[in-house]
Amino acid sequence: MTRLVKEDSEVGRLHINTPLMGESLVSKEFLRRTESKEYFRMQPEINILKIGGQSIIDRGAKAILPILDELIRLKEEYKILLMTGGGTRARHVYSIGVDLGMPTGVLSKLGDKVSWQNAEMISVLLAKHGGVKIGHGDNLEQLTMFCRLGYLPITYGIPPYGFFEHPAEIGSIPPHRTDCGAFLLAENIGARSVIFLKDEKGLFETDPKKVDAAKRGGLKFFDKISAGELLELDLDDLIIERPILTLLQRAKCIKQIQIIDALNNPGDIGKALAGEHVGTIITKD
Ligand code: ADP
Ligand code: MG
Repeated sequence: MTRLVKEDSEVGRLHINTPLMGESLVSKEFLRRTESKEYFRMQPEINILKIGGQSIIDRGAKAILPILDELIRLKEEYKILLMTGGGTRARHVYSIGVDLGMPTGVLSKLGDKVSWQNAEMISVLLAKHGGVKIGHGDNLEQLTMFCRLGYLPITYGIPPYGFFEHPAEIGSIPPHRTDCGAFLLAENIGARSVIFLKDEKGLFETDPKKVDAAKRGGLKFFDKISAGELLELDLDDLIIERPILTLLQRAKCIKQIQIIDALNNPGDIGKALAGEHVGTIITKD
């Protein structure tokens, strides 16, 4: 119930009588009271699948087509939103931008076009199977409807920060790229799952590609780990963007993320959607 309230003082502020009246919305004590017991999930049946730019799309037809074949099959059983990474072309434009001393927000604006191009390419490939490229606007409320009608919606992974991108903790590369975009969207629409399709089995103690082939077998593999434990380990490199760990700790809907090797095992996409533990699962707690 709202009603206009006028303060007694002469230059009184005009308030609307709500529980948030007169609050700065900064007080920690106050903010605790805005926590919901259970958050509303707009798209509880949608599974967000992020297809890697560098890890998958840049490898071309041999890598992409078997994955798309799986998705065409799986969309009959599962509701899927496919989100695209950037990859090598994004890295190239970042590197020119870094050389020019461009700020993070400019780099973010440069990189989003690449993720968009990849979404365009995948949409073209999937067009005759119901692939439909969507933006970051009103279409996101319509995801369940698209999937019910047999479509496979596709969007780009870069979150729309642009000039508003947060400064990076280290260096100048935009910290919230397409992994973060997929996670943030999944969280805010209350998705069923968020799965990262990459080219490695999951998370190792270090990047397997930077270790001699002979030593790779000895690398420690994490099949399940919490965001907190992983932050504590403070590994130099990760298979997903680092801010996801903090975002996951704060998440209200998403309780875990899964990283799978869809390049070498496209069949694992169906297993992950069925709730099987393939790859690495990073949990909120
Ligand atoms: P995408 O294109 O899907 O965003 P990236 O190339 O950005 O993929 O990130 C995935 C890559 O991260 C893997 O191919 C792997 O080489 C690398 N990587 C870095 N650190 C790790 C780690 N600790 N465990 C596994 N892979 C890692
Ligand atoms: Mg990446």
